[in-house]
Amino acid sequence: MSKLVAVKVTYMQCDAKDCDYITHDVNNDTVFDYRNKPCPKCGENLLTDADWEALAGHLKAADMMSDFLKGCGIENSPSGKMVEFARGEMDGKGNTIIKFKD
Ligand SMILES: [Zn+2]
Repeated sequence: MSKLVAVKVTYMQCDAKDCDYITHDVNNDTVFDYRNKPCPKCGENLLTDADWEALAGHLKAADMMSDFLKGCGIENSPSGKMVEFARGEMDGKGNTIIKFKD
């Protein structure tokens, strides 16, 4: 059964000012492998401990929200599909900038 609320990791990018490294070869299962790994282009830390902890918190919060909704008897979204309503970007300092869709 899919979750009603989920955080989906779709890319990893370097936060270094002049680096444009990005990979889409990452997902929720593999993202934590990037913890404290160097960027292949510039050597900067790709997933700092601060961002790792923030991301783990986001994943846990989404699971808790899904469990809460399930406890309220809400098992499916009205459309039956997963709907993206926001995107978040992490800044390497444990901060997540969330941009909600219109
Ligand atoms: Zn880099």
